[in-house]
Amino acid sequence: MRLCHNCHTPWDAGKPKPAPKDSCPACDAYLHCCLNCRHHRPSLHNQCYIPNTEWVGDRRGMNYCDEFEFRITKPGGQEDAQQQAARSSLEALLGADPTPGPPNSLDSLFSGGASTESRPKSLEDLFKEEE
Ligand SMILES: [Zn+2]
Repeated sequence: MRLCHNCHTPWDAGKPKPAPKDSCPACDAYLHCCLNCRHHRPSLHNQCYIPNTEWVGDRRGMNYCDEFEFRITKPGGQEDAQQQAARSSLEALLGADPTPGPPNSLDSLFSGGASTESRPKSLEDLFKEEE
């Protein structure tokens, strides 16, 4: 989803890139500008991920940069975080099942990483005891 950098209104004109003079229908901010570009990196020297682009003085103003690609914002990034939180809490609920059955305990015995890690140590202990 392509959002206006200024007012975060979704921009969907049926094309991947706005024309240099296209502007946001909601706030009239220029769309073909660094602030809308996925290559914009304020921390870099040229403030651009593409190394040999021309210096742009006004990051909010329109440019004619050939490397411009509209920054894609995942719809509802916060919802993803909420889904992850819900999933982890669900896993916590399943893991903290107060009624563990015999299959679960058997699985934990045979598939536990701790038991395989302790196996060589126990072998070494056996040899030490034989000496
Ligand atoms: Zn806007």
